[in-house]
Amino acid sequence: MNELETLKKTILEQYPRLNENTEFKFACHPGVSCFNQCCADVNIFLTPYDVLRLKNHLRIDSQELLDKYTQLVADPKQQLPAVQLRMTETETKHCYFVDQEKGCTVYENRPWSCRMYPVGQASPKETGNDEDEKFFFILHEEVCKGFEDGKSWTIKEWMKDQGVDPYDKFGEKFKEITFNNFFEQGKVLTPQKVDMYFLALYNLDRFKDFIFKTTFLKRFDIEKDKIEKIKNDDEELLEFAFDWIRFSLFGEKTVNIKSELLKK
Ligand code: SF4
Ligand code: SF4
Repeated sequence: MNELETLKKTILEQYPRLNENTEFKFACHPGVSCFNQCCADVNIFLTPYDVLRLKNHLRIDSQELLDKYTQLVADPKQQLPAVQLRMTETETKHCYFVDQEKGCTVYENRPWSCRMYPVGQASPKETGNDEDEKFFFILHEEVCKGFEDGKSWTIKEWMKDQGVDPYDKFGEKFKEITFNNFFEQGKVLTPQKVDMYFLALYNLDRFKDFIFKTTFLKRFDIEKDKIEKIKNDDEELLEFAFDWIRFSLFGEKTVNIKSELLKK
């Protein structure tokens, strides 16, 4: 069992299961003695929406963001690759986005996990979809001094303050894919489908090329105003990418083939 699996097991078996009304005390600011220490040598998994926000913050292409700042991690129990924020190859292994004086330089668009910390969310069910089973927990890491003299929050207030809402909206769509029934039924994706998953959800600018620079729009029936929206708005494009993946990986009726092609 690797370090992450051990942590997951400990959380599920030993951590108190909190709800959104649970209170805790916490304050993180440049005055704390541990400032920036949590932004080094840390495993931060990125969702497709995290990547979208980061690439737009940095004003770079999704391919460049993935090449420079992320790494793929293969989980032997999962068919889908996971994307992690890459740390620098320095002695401290700090995050590329941390500035020792200013803190996080992508703060307005920092990933979901960075926003939630020290609050975490877990589900004992493999499906991750059961709202009753979902619970929150607080990570008390030795390095973190934010608990010593903090303001009082409920978990719900903390999440609102940290701007988690849009991340959670896309997070739910992401779970519909990663915890899809397809996997529970023991079915296996072809390598081509795994590549499509990564392209559509993580390499959003290449997915846009796939829609607009191939015969895609001749083959699939997408409403005109939808086409305009996905051309001009990355969040609309990502919403469509989730529909496309449910169609192309699992055969769900989330995208329609043009009727004239069906007749042929
Ligand atoms: S993205 Fe920002 S908050 Fe997250 S680890 Fe990097 S510097 Fe820290
Ligand atoms: S270790 Fe805790 S208090 Fe210190 S900077 Fe990180 S989150 Fe803030």
